[in-house]
Amino acid sequence: MSRTANTLTRISPSALRRALDPVSRRLLDAAVQATEATGTLLWAVGGPVRDLALGRPVRDLDLATATDPAPLAEAIAARLGATVHTEPRFGTASVVIDGHRLDLAATRTEHYVRVAALPSVRLSATIEADLARRDFTVNAVALAVTGSGRGQVIDPFGGLDDLAAGRLRILHSVSYHDDPTRLWRAGRLAARLRLLPTSETVTAQALAIAFRYFDAVSPRRLWREFALAAAEPRPGAAFALLHAWGVLAATHPSLALTSEASRALAYRRGPLDPALVLAVLLAQRPDEERAAAIARLGAPRSAARAAEDAARVLAAAPDPDSLDTLTAATTDARLAALWLDPARQRDLQSALRRWERTRPHLTPVVLRALGVPLGPALGRALAELRRERYLANVRSAATARNHIRARFVSEGTSR
Ligand code: ATP
Ligand code: MG
Repeated sequence: MSRTANTLTRISPSALRRALDPVSRRLLDAAVQATEATGTLLWAVGGPVRDLALGRPVRDLDLATATDPAPLAEAIAARLGATVHTEPRFGTASVVIDGHRLDLAATRTEHYVRVAALPSVRLSATIEADLARRDFTVNAVALAVTGSGRGQVIDPFGGLDDLAAGRLRILHSVSYHDDPTRLWRAGRLAARLRLLPTSETVTAQALAIAFRYFDAVSPRRLWREFALAAAEPRPGAAFALLHAWGVLAATHPSLALTSEASRALAYRRGPLDPALVLAVLLAQRPDEERAAAIARLGAPRSAARAAEDAARVLAAAPDPDSLDTLTAATTDARLAALWLDPARQRDLQSALRRWERTRPHLTPVVLRALGVPLGPALGRALAELRRERYLANVRSAATARNHIRARFVSEGTSR
């Protein structure tokens, strides 16, 4: 990796303002102004500081404060006419305006009692202690935006050096034990920012997988991570890393990438619908394995349906019975099958188009005139004529008439 520390953009409150979209900039300005009377300390933390350092656009603004964020959020909202949501129990608040959101959190320490347990939180910590509870060094950085220390960069773990060198590093060896979903976060971050895990991070990942830490994570949390990975700008790269590290197989063995699935996702641009990615991962699996993986991930009904339909589409043959299944499949399912099996799916798609264009040689009026009774028989006769025409067993209206007389008209009713 050729990045060096001095290729990072200078990190300062004014550089942060410039990197924000106009609405988020107004939110930041209002936050800074609202602290002037009270002297509240405020830091930009994690993602925004990291992305600013890389010269990437800063999308969402996370601020930490040493005090209760609720009154501050109210003051910001009052200035801008924005909406406030507060979670007093968690010491968090957010301000929303025009679809943009400012997140405020009281600095805190967290304590994990067992694998994947939600942490017990203690508020009123120093900013350094707050950074120490985070996932990777590149996210454990803060920039003071108010107070006498304004402009100070707090980087206790060497996150900016790691960022410059392209390294992904956990903060401590039991990080994945505390929260195994950080492995999924690692895959997203490494793919997005082209970071390489350090050797201690790789070892910790291998241990987390060997000791099956994922078993303790709820389906709801797993699906959230899965959907976030699908939404990455380079989802194929994220899933390839998660596969290579064994994270997919540890989440559920059937999620491991087949060579077709890996090719199917490579170079796709995100964000992708998680249902589509799930369909790509599971379409080639046997029914029971697919169902088990869907249950483990807590995938919603629509995503489960995409995976099931994709399996049916992959197994379909270009005959009328299969083609009807294909017509009923969701768009995600058809796309997943096409990505997994391009050549055959193109043949199948043209068969499908031909099937959709095929009309019976005879109309219902003609069938009635031939003596086919009204009711289900008429429908069956039309379906059979369509099918026989598609299969080229019946090639003209005259043959179609003979076919109907032979199969649908009893002696004496035929005219
Ligand atoms: P993105 O650009 O994906 O939003 P981000 O770094 O802002 O990246 P968020 O999910 O918004 O990521 O989280 C905000 C910050 O909270 C992170 O930068 C990180 O410091 C911390 N964080 C989030 N999830 C975890 C976790 N599971 N364990 C530890 N720290 C976390
Ligand atoms: Mg964020």
